Amino acid sequence: MTERVYLDWNASAPLRPEARAAVLAMLDRTGNPSSVHAEGRVAREAIERARGEVAALVGVEPGSVIFTSGATEANALALSPGWARQPGDRAFERILVSGAEHPSVREGGQFGRDQIELIPVDAQGVVDLGALRALLAGGPALVSVMLANNETGVIQPISEVARIVHEAGGVLHVDAVQAPGRMRCNFRELCADLLTLSAHKIGGPRGVGALVRKAGLHLEGALIRGGGQERGLRGGTENVPGIAGFGAAAAAITARHVEEIGHSQRVRHRLEAALRAVTPDIVIFGEGVERLPNTTFFSHRGLLAETVVIGFDLAGVAVSSGSACSSGKVQPSQVLAAMGVDPALARGAIRVSTGYSTTDADIDRFLSAWTKLAESLLKRRKSIAA
Ligand code: PMP
Repeated sequence: MTERVYLDWNASAPLRPEARAAVLAMLDRTGNPSSVHAEGRVAREAIERARGEVAALVGVEPGSVIFTSGATEANALALSPGWARQPGDRAFERILVSGAEHPSVREGGQFGRDQIELIPVDAQGVVDLGALRALLAGGPALVSVMLANNETGVIQPISEVARIVHEAGGVLHVDAVQAPGRMRCNFRELCADLLTLSAHKIGGPRGVGALVRKAGLHLEGALIRGGGQERGLRGGTENVPGIAGFGAAAAAITARHVEEIGHSQRVRHRLEAALRAVTPDIVIFGEGVERLPNTTFFSHRGLLAETVVIGFDLAGVAVSSGSACSSGKVQPSQVLAAMGVDPALARGAIRVSTGYSTTDADIDRFLSAWTKLAESLLKRRKSIAA
């Protein structure tokens, strides 16, 4: 069997060898990190080493990192009404989220449905700063805007968003899950108050993430209370192997992000030029603005994304569609809907996302499969229309 080509890194990136080694090493060690004996201390040391590595990835002090079971949980913890700059500050009564957010943010965390307000995005998927200002005129709010979109790769102007939010007395959460290793991601430069990371998007194991918190920001009412772990913000015995793997992946990126970003840029340039040469009528979403270098989200009129994804899969290539399948029904991408993309075009949206180990040969396999698929699917469409 020919080897498969994996081009779905935004869904989950392959485990980095350093992360695998760190996970395996800790799977073989016994000990609860809260125990005082030698076994417990080994587990504690692994967690604190990883905390330092994850902190270094985004340029913060280790004490700012709270480990969770993934980005979904980190987002749920971030979207709590009780975040306060000073003890005794009033709880937030509203949450503003951009229309392009991941479902784990769009659901509003611990806010009620009637407390969630949407910040519109423009046709390229960039948040409308004027609309944000207008919404904040209605009173202070917790605001959540992602750094880079998981579907389009579109990058948001976070430091400008932060200025507007802070002027209005709000707190800013940034879902930065897709950013590390693909763009600069420094907590202080972003001026965020809270920031979410996920291990499996950066080459760590699945089921681990972190919430980074600005020093001095307090939370009344943690999401998961219990044994007081993670400074009382996330009860429960820590996932030691997972956290160790997360740390190792973070350290690998800190050491190599400049070359990895350069590699992704070259791969995408080649991929998009060839896509256009084969099918000049494709639309690449967010093409007019800054995007992650590893992401190409495109469509062609007349295509059905599910059919294309299955076609690619049969040809040995893993890509993703822009639609989500829930309860047996295929829903078009909410991100494209928020951008005002014609639903007929959104139905054909395919996401290709790459990483540091993607080769020219992988891209050639993708292009050869696309050439055949486009030829047959678009020809069939013409004959149906005729
Ligand atoms: N936010 C974004 C932007 C994501 O892409 C994802 C994963 N698709 C998540 C949050 C959720 O991450 P996790 O799988 O770690 O819960």
